Amino acid sequence: MTATRTLLLTGASRGIGHATVRRFNAEGWRVITCSRHPFPDECPWGGGAANHIQIDLASPNDVIEKVEVIRGMLGGRLDALVNNAGISPKGPEGGRLNTFDTDLRTWGHVFHVNFFASVVLARSLKDELAAAKGAVVNVTSIAGARVHPFAGAAYATSKAALAALTREMAHDFGPLGVRVNAIAPGEIRTDILSAGTEELADTIPMRRLGEPGEVADTVYFLCTSPSAYISGTEIEINGAQHV
Ligand code: NAD
Repeated sequence: MTATRTLLLTGASRGIGHATVRRFNAEGWRVITCSRHPFPDECPWGGGAANHIQIDLASPNDVIEKVEVIRGMLGGRLDALVNNAGISPKGPEGGRLNTFDTDLRTWGHVFHVNFFASVVLARSLKDELAAAKGAVVNVTSIAGARVHPFAGAAYATSKAALAALTREMAHDFGPLGVRVNAIAPGEIRTDILSAGTEELADTIPMRRLGEPGEVADTVYFLCTSPSAYISGTEIEINGAQHV
């Protein structure tokens, strides 16, 4: 009998994270969810309070402290870590927050959530990932590679940094048997989107936004054996946007 596999997922409360919980639960995985909020009474995702950890990824101290709690929950092995949580502060009237209008506090906040938390979790759980010959998936963005009409300067650069981190980690974790990849979504129908994103659908060759479940399917692929020799790559999920 195969042992139950475990996923640790940040930003589980809604959107792509919520769809990812459902996808992995459906395949029989135990999913440990991380979110800023306590486990809700009426829970939209599986796993139960015993598999939930309240953590503010914007606070490096909180992340470092909670790593010990997470380690205790894992029992020595971690099959997959998905660094999914992300924030995208909007500019005036919901538009792109440009380089000049982003204050230093915002640059720091965005980098803590979108980048540093992923570094801390992955390097702190190296032994557990190695024990399972596990996989890491970092959720980046198409905005990390090209200026985007709605994504801000801090958001885009944090995602570019996360893409670079993915390659560095794939190099360093490879000898441990741990694979590290990124997925770069385009316009996926979640709360993070700006008003007006729907109009972008007409410019996307597939003429529609993506759905969170479609991203979750790719995350699942990258965490399981059909992708056994894929590491250090970034898969765009964008309906051919920007081709
Ligand atoms: P979302 O806003 O619905 O979800 C973001 C998640 O991150 C939420 O669960 C939120 O609670 C969590 N989060 C935010 N700040 C946090 C903090 N300080 N501590 C802990 N958790 C925190 O958006 P989504 O679209 O589901 O985003 C998921 C990932 O996909 C993000 O990294 C986002 O940048 C990326 N992404 C999304 C799109 C898109 O079109 N939806 C496109 C490109 C990239």
